[in-house]
Amino acid sequence: MIGSVIEQKRILATSVPGPRSAELAARKAAAVSAGVGTGLPAYIVRGEGGILVDVDGNQLIDFGSGIAVTTVGNGNPKVVAAVQEQIAKFTHTCFMVTPYEQYVEVAEKLAELTPGDGEKRSALFNSGAEAVENAIKVARHHTGRQAVVAFDHAYHGRTNLTMGLTSKNMPYKHRFGPFAGEIYRVPMAYPYRWPTGPDACADEAFDEFVSLVHAQVGEENCAAVIIEPIQGEGGFIVPAPGFLAKVADYCTDNGILLIADEVQTGFARTGDWFASHHEGVVPDLITTAKGIAGGMPLAAVTGRADVMDSIHVSGLGGTYGGNPVACAAALASMEWMEETDACGRAREVEAIFRPRLETLADKYGVIGDIRGRGAMLAVELVSDLDAKTPDAALTGAVNRYCHGQGLVTLTCGTFGNVFRFLPPLSAPDELLHEGLDILEDAFAEHAG
Ligand SMILES: *Cc1c(COP(=O)(O)O)cnc(C)c1O
Repeated sequence: MIGSVIEQKRILATSVPGPRSAELAARKAAAVSAGVGTGLPAYIVRGEGGILVDVDGNQLIDFGSGIAVTTVGNGNPKVVAAVQEQIAKFTHTCFMVTPYEQYVEVAEKLAELTPGDGEKRSALFNSGAEAVENAIKVARHHTGRQAVVAFDHAYHGRTNLTMGLTSKNMPYKHRFGPFAGEIYRVPMAYPYRWPTGPDACADEAFDEFVSLVHAQVGEENCAAVIIEPIQGEGGFIVPAPGFLAKVADYCTDNGILLIADEVQTGFARTGDWFASHHEGVVPDLITTAKGIAGGMPLAAVTGRADVMDSIHVSGLGGTYGGNPVACAAALASMEWMEETDACGRAREVEAIFRPRLETLADKYGVIGDIRGRGAMLAVELVSDLDAKTPDAALTGAVNRYCHGQGLVTLTCGTFGNVFRFLPPLSAPDELLHEGLDILEDAFAEHAG
């Protein structure tokens, strides 16, 4: 490993962001499109475990993992070593020109770790959106049908097809249309906001889904239903228990392919390898990216062999997809997750966070819902517990307070009122508690 071990504690050397970050922000404004935003503009020079070090010498606590990417921890030594070893050998051949073993090995690992015992095949890509695009291509080609059904609060990416699948207008879609055709939207089984309450949610949402597909699409026109088994950007919404299994059975009965978009939920994040595992669901196709390769750009579509093999030769691919350095990082990440029982660690993270979030809920009366699984947890902030009025202003204020105190936090949700937690799994307990202390101060300051 390069250099010394960074102590796993917060250090505030200057304000956050500090003066050198402010200088870089000025350069950014003059060189980078204003359309590319930065949540906490502290410019990072190093990362290790649960700590990010910025240009001003501040050590920030990481509760975001670069949006669920560095699940194995920042600068994971095993991943760094694998990348260094591979990069010294060769950086690229293009798998479609002259192949290499690492790509095949990643596909073998994906077949082993994803839900279902049947034969599976994978194809590798560079980003989550690219994986989703390809899953839709595969589903349409295999079924000979065109329609795709997506859910309220869904997030599937920012390319043209995936923007169309994404539900939220600002900031993802606003004035970027027209969007691709043959995309239909149905309600999500969102227990906290289901009009008749959480108990009826799974059944009623499923009935509505069935009736909308029948009335507006026609089952026989429907190629795929795409769903995040826990919605990410839409607000860490865990579907009502049983909803996903009902949708899966319905898809099977109607010759529709179920695509689980596990780009954010995958790879030990939720306390199992994939969030579909918690629901006992075996999707026909799974899309993965984010947590797959410890920060290197890699994505995959994994699915039923008969479906994935129905595509003509050279129908799938791309210049960089399954880059050997990214594959080496993925293999090292998955090995680290197996060796350290990362799924177990994610459940421990939940055991640390939940009681402290419940204490906050009891104390301040602004948390309407605590939800998520493993190290993918969130609180939904409301200004009125009975009316469930979303409080985006409070969410923003808490977020800014955390940033100023050197805690990297993220918000999400269709109404901008969800505060989410995605810490790296290599962050020690004390660091998680230190971050939660800051969160408590933020609530005392803004919700007290
Ligand atoms: C982030 C995300 C995507 C898009 O991934 P990119 O790598 O940003 O293209 C797609 N689906 C889900 C569920 C995501 O969280």
